Amino acid sequence: MKVSVCSNRPILSPCGLKDIKYQVDTYVGCEHYCYYCYALAQAETDWSKKILIHNDIVDHLSKALDKIPPQTIYMGYHTDPYQPCESEYLQTRKVLELFFKKGFSASILTKSDLIIRDIDILKEMNDAAVSVSVAFNDNQTRRLFEANTMDTDKRIEALHQLKEAGVRTGALLCPIIPHITDAIQLIDILEPYADVIWVYGLNINDRSDQNWLTIQKILNSQFPDLIEQIESVIFSKNHSYWANLRENLEILKKDQKLNLNIHI
Ligand code: SF4
Repeated sequence: MKVSVCSNRPILSPCGLKDIKYQVDTYVGCEHYCYYCYALAQAETDWSKKILIHNDIVDHLSKALDKIPPQTIYMGYHTDPYQPCESEYLQTRKVLELFFKKGFSASILTKSDLIIRDIDILKEMNDAAVSVSVAFNDNQTRRLFEANTMDTDKRIEALHQLKEAGVRTGALLCPIIPHITDAIQLIDILEPYADVIWVYGLNINDRSDQNWLTIQKILNSQFPDLIEQIESVIFSKNHSYWANLRENLEILKKDQKLNLNIHI
């Protein structure tokens, strides 16, 4: 993987999430290279080969933070802050140290257990939150759709350690791939360690979408018996598959009193 310094550009940017005004992407690009990633369509580089890092991220971000009051900043919107190169480049660690020094906090989404390294800062921050995203029940299937991510059980163990350290935790089940992702089983595994769980389906608008073409290739070669069923569910928001899953999730939510947010 080649890592290059990118041209100067704003590091702090507006965030579209409810209750969070700003976000920071510590990298430009994401080595995890999930084939369903919505950000792949706008990628500046081929993420399987090249990732960009900000020049002097601390100095630039420090100046931007001085213009706003201390608050929670989101990390993990367009790129994963704990992708493999973070272990060498420490961009995310440096940003968290800066946040802590200036009285800011962080809300982080990741697919990596590298976040355990930073529990020391996160537990000292005012109300930091960490969510892990998970979409596959076994690692063999995960590897088909996420070229370079961490094992699912390692992510869950990271969530466990974060919760034990007193950090607010969440799990994002995304994307639910019909007939492949067993959402009920994943919720059962994640629920002891996640204060809140969100569930989202695979979001692909039409059949010409590059992400769909890539996923279609995987389905054709690995799930030839299921591809027709999967395709019909993905492109029909009113399909009975979604209705049944929604109903089962609502029952689970009620019976187990889960903080479950269903968006399918
Ligand atoms: S980890 Fe997130 S940002 Fe990175 S490729 Fe996967 S979906 Fe995209």
